[in-house]
Amino acid sequence: AAADPLQMEGVSAGSSLVIAHLFPDLLNLYGDGGNVRILEQRLAWRGIPVQVERVRHGQSVDLSSVDLVVLGGGPDREQRLASVELMRMRDDLKAYVEDDGVLLAVCGGYQILGYEWLLGDEVVKGLGIVDMTTERPGTSADRLIDNIVLRSPLLAQPIVGYENHAGRTHLGTGVEAFGDVVSAGGHGNNDDDRRDGVRYKNVIGTYLHGPLLAKNPHVADDLLARALDRHVKRTGKGAGRAALVPLDDAVELAANEELCKRF
Ligand code: GLN
Repeated sequence: AAADPLQMEGVSAGSSLVIAHLFPDLLNLYGDGGNVRILEQRLAWRGIPVQVERVRHGQSVDLSSVDLVVLGGGPDREQRLASVELMRMRDDLKAYVEDDGVLLAVCGGYQILGYEWLLGDEVVKGLGIVDMTTERPGTSADRLIDNIVLRSPLLAQPIVGYENHAGRTHLGTGVEAFGDVVSAGGHGNNDDDRRDGVRYKNVIGTYLHGPLLAKNPHVADDLLARALDRHVKRTGKGAGRAALVPLDDAVELAANEELCKRF
């Protein structure tokens, strides 16, 4: 169901939680954009006003008035176009992250947060906001494609998803992964570590493609809790994470459990 149109219009602007979806026209592989729909809907169900800024290629956004940034994944060409835009925003994005801004980055968007990533065989400079690098082992161009289940210290329930990437990501020493890979199949960051993604301040990066948040409502609420707290810090308004009353997620969690059993 669509969110309340009044909220979409930003009628409650000033107290609305603001989500910036960066480059939905470039980074939206496997419906990664659906993650934004889930965040909107979970806020609407709780009567919390939300305003979504869809920032398209060539547009810009003032991150000092944003509570949650979402970056999806994309094919190489689109990832390159998005990375040029993101490099322009680099200092603002870094300041946002260091100021506890909340960021969900999936696959291609996740890779760009590190120092380097690969476009085919070409090494491309990344944002360097998180201490990590993406490369490819030797001549092997095998993609890592699988269903995958993670356990994250952030959450009581496991996280189910799907990965499809060529790049292998290596986290810097002491940098924490989003979770450990606990499924029989699935790789996560690279061929060896059995870990996926990254956690850094309020950043969650992951290879798990959309609809990550539809399959894992607990991950959605973890992000929303952080974003609501940031909103209070930023505007002095709202109740922070206390506004996040529990929802009936029985169906979603039963599906999550079933997928965990299968993978
Ligand atoms: N192009 C990147 C890779 O294959 C990311 C692709 C994606 O977002 N699925 O490593």
